[in-house]
Amino acid sequence: MSTVYPRIALIGLGLIASSMYWAIKRGGLAHEVTGFARSSQTRETARHIGLCDQVCDTAAEAVQGADLIVLCVPVGAMGNIAEEIAPSLKKGATISDVGSVKRAVIDAVSPHVPQGVHFVPAHPLAGTEHSGPESGFATLYDNRWCLIIPGHDTDAKAVDRLRSLWEGMGANVDLMDADHHDLVLAVTSHAPHLIAYTMVGVADDIRRVTDSEVINYSAAGFRDFTRIAASDPTMWRDVFLSNKEATLEILGRFTEELFALQRAIRLGDGDHLHAYFTRTRGIRRDIIEAGQDTDKPNFGRTERRNFTEQSFSK
Ligand code: NAP
Repeated sequence: MSTVYPRIALIGLGLIASSMYWAIKRGGLAHEVTGFARSSQTRETARHIGLCDQVCDTAAEAVQGADLIVLCVPVGAMGNIAEEIAPSLKKGATISDVGSVKRAVIDAVSPHVPQGVHFVPAHPLAGTEHSGPESGFATLYDNRWCLIIPGHDTDAKAVDRLRSLWEGMGANVDLMDADHHDLVLAVTSHAPHLIAYTMVGVADDIRRVTDSEVINYSAAGFRDFTRIAASDPTMWRDVFLSNKEATLEILGRFTEELFALQRAIRLGDGDHLHAYFTRTRGIRRDIIEAGQDTDKPNFGRTERRNFTEQSFSK
């Protein structure tokens, strides 16, 4: 693989950025990768584990001379960071991001993008429930999707170059419109996360009554909910606050379906339940056939890492 960008700056050094760094190094996709995180503790950890060729003490320093800048901070922090680095961006550079919501990030970042700098938002559909600089690994994006969200006037060459980077990191790339992205992700990722958070919260309430039975006898279904519900609270708070409409729309539909199933149970309508579960089983089969999950029992839990966002995404 050859160099796609001579110099890349990663702003925010958590799971997504650290996985990008190791994947960029694996593919030889950049000569130099600089990094910045807001806390000195994260910067120290990054230096200690060799994450980035150079870890800078300010975001402005990290982006100096960079050909690509990737914002890898929570969605709610993207606008402030963009404003902070704007005066230090090189003409002709591309600024991108990895945020799980696109319309809100585009609205927050666009006003700060200087003339002559390209803004190409993106979202890799890959992650785990772990966070921080030590949680990343080079194979996170292998055979996962990365959605690139160009605007109608985005420079085509800048889009192609970003596509080459993500493909070099192992991902399959698709282009999508921002609003459509937010609706699709509300279905495949955001609403399911909220449901997992709720289910674990309910079980916790019951646990207070039944002591530790919920933990001791937790079956696979509930354990999978707890893994998802362990995802980073800051990231997910920001996702729901910034993808409000689409998430509420999907949750409304979810509630209707839940009522229909509730009614089928009350009326003893086994045909309805069976038909419903047969349809959902088919969806699982399609996901496996698309190579987006394993059909091993228990998701091959002992053999591979689990992918929280990905397990709900295409
Ligand atoms: P993470 O592991 O928690 O890392 C977040 C990084 O952002 C840390 O370096 C943190 O700095 C920094 N940060 C947090 N709040 C900040 C603020 N207010 N201002 C400046 N920097 C701040 O998160 P991640 O999982 O890599 O997620 C990063 C982005 O990727 C998010 O936008 C998320 O929506 C998106 N994403 C996540 C996943 C996933 O499954 N995790 C998947 C796809 C996309 P400190 O360490 O110094 O606190």
